[in-house]
Amino acid sequence: MPNLRDTTRAPDTAWQDDVRAGVRHVRDLASLPLSPAEREAAQAAASLHKVRAPKSYLDLIDWNDPADPIRAQVIPSPGELEEAEGELGDPIADHEFSPVPRLTHRHADRVLLFPTYQCAVYCRFCFRKESLTSIGRGYTREALEPALAYIADHPEIREVILTGGDPLSLPDKALAEIRARVETIAHVRLLRIHTRVPVALPSRITPGLVAALQGRLMVTVVTHFNHAREITDATEAACRTLRQAGFVLLNQSVLLKGVNDTVEALEELCRELMYRLGIKPYYLHHGDLARGMAHRRTTIEHGQALVEALRARLSGICNPVYVLDLPEGGGKVPLAPCPIEGRDGESWRIRGLDGTVRDYREILGVREERPSKNPAAGS
Ligand code: SF4
Repeated sequence: MPNLRDTTRAPDTAWQDDVRAGVRHVRDLASLPLSPAEREAAQAAASLHKVRAPKSYLDLIDWNDPADPIRAQVIPSPGELEEAEGELGDPIADHEFSPVPRLTHRHADRVLLFPTYQCAVYCRFCFRKESLTSIGRGYTREALEPALAYIADHPEIREVILTGGDPLSLPDKALAEIRARVETIAHVRLLRIHTRVPVALPSRITPGLVAALQGRLMVTVVTHFNHAREITDATEAACRTLRQAGFVLLNQSVLLKGVNDTVEALEELCRELMYRLGIKPYYLHHGDLARGMAHRRTTIEHGQALVEALRARLSGICNPVYVLDLPEGGGKVPLAPCPIEGRDGESWRIRGLDGTVRDYREILGVREERPSKNPAAGS
């Protein structure tokens, strides 16, 4: 089997070979170079969260390194079997804010629409893994009807976010159909797509897929790169295709212990995203409370130290916003350390990138000199 990552201009169907040659079922784990103990642990963990990875993504793994950051993202590990107290099956309360099936309406102007609960790759850290397992179904036109009717009935909705599951794992025909249906709703202004496909199955980004998404609506594609080693000639070609189609590209990463929890790893990732792929690093997520993920979460304090160091090293355009998506639908809140050290009226004390605290006085107009009570004074 050739290394599929070497092909930067793959034919439109190359992605199907890539999927077929990868891991699609638990039994396929037997073909990977794991030790018997690792295989047994991986098979047990895979019973809790599906396992799938295209061959080109597996080709990125250094199998001699048990702590390889690509391996950590897709090969089930025994840590997943350990549930810590307080972890949640639905960490950000998608279901609580779901008025109809396949839709979450947490914020007034936007909704999450779930056309499928299947993915091209199953990430071990996924906070929706329990929905993917329990619901698990793919796309049908009928299944989406109640959600589309809900959007049409709510004129405050401006943005429809296709998520899942991975929307770009769907066939072109399904994507074109979903896009066309959303476009008929006049108050919708933007179609956003959350996807790991450009990362894990870049050969799927074909002219046909792009054409299926082009229409009336502005399209923003939010990719999900977590490590610079995921950035290859093939991902570069895929992102170029998306950019040239006129789509806005943003990236969200998850801060994962053992994958990208060093300043060097994040610095390289953010630079390569912006400078090589033309993708603006958008969010760096603190780990959600998904079950069995304690072994991949860092402390918030560590995350704050990382983003403070990044802020000093990277240009603003390369810096993501460090956020936590709060349980119970509390929304994404920024976690970066606050540089304000104190305030006295209009005077603020603010810590600079060099660590020095400086004074900043708010000046909102020219101060008028007060007339002196004694005109003779000071003359
Ligand atoms: S592609 Fe997205 S939805 Fe699917 S398993 Fe990975 S993180 Fe979860």
